[in-house]
Amino acid sequence: MSQPALDFVIAALEKIREKSDRTPRASRAALARLEDTPRATSLREACTLPTQRRLETPNKAELLAAVRERVTVCTKCAHLVSSRTQTVFGVGNPNADLMFIGEAPGADEDQQGEPFVGRAGQLLTRILKAMNFAREDVYIANILKCRPDMPAGSFGNRPPTPAEMQTCLPYLVEQINIIQPSVLVALGAVAVEGLLGTRGTMRELRGRWHAYNSIPLMITYHPAYLLRNQAPSEKRKVWEDMLLVMERLNRPISERQRSYFL
Ligand code: URA
Repeated sequence: MSQPALDFVIAALEKIREKSDRTPRASRAALARLEDTPRATSLREACTLPTQRRLETPNKAELLAAVRERVTVCTKCAHLVSSRTQTVFGVGNPNADLMFIGEAPGADEDQQGEPFVGRAGQLLTRILKAMNFAREDVYIANILKCRPDMPAGSFGNRPPTPAEMQTCLPYLVEQINIIQPSVLVALGAVAVEGLLGTRGTMRELRGRWHAYNSIPLMITYHPAYLLRNQAPSEKRKVWEDMLLVMERLNRPISERQRSYFL
């Protein structure tokens, strides 16, 4: 192959590698035939670079930023558009191994534009710290990106409806597909219903591995449940679920952590 043609092929392959999440392919025979050309090495690299090099931080961050832009102007649920202060997309490390999924923003999250910043969020942050994670190490998102609207003058939160969750779920699916975490944690039965479309009691769901699109999924109580029910036995259950997560991620676990109660 002439040098200009080879340059053209290499440029095209590099473009494919940058723009898609698939490595461009070339047969061994084709690569072997090119072996004696001066540019064979870069052609081989263009075809065989490991996926890690293609999915480095800026790419995932950029892909997430593009989804965030669409979420920010989303008007699919008119009633939520008129009640929200802002959408609440997600926060954390685009390359996280561990991703937490909650229900929906509450009043604090709606005000601040960040998931899990209210009382339940502060408890989640403490749980992460006990696992030796900072919030910046993991990724945190919700099934719903808008706070479920409440009647004027009323306090508290309402759970998202199945229709709201179905409408909003595609955004979360995009987030998961971009981040590709090694482990997902669903916080509470509503998050499970939104993600898997199945209803169940936490008693039967928590404490064992499930899967979402082949990603290991741990189901545990929502931190808001622990704020309502302060029994040490319930806190210990959540902590045992988190120990399973740490084991799955091959994180070191100290004796102190093993015997820890939240
Ligand atoms: N509860 C959730 O499920 N998500 C939040 O972001 C805050 C509270």
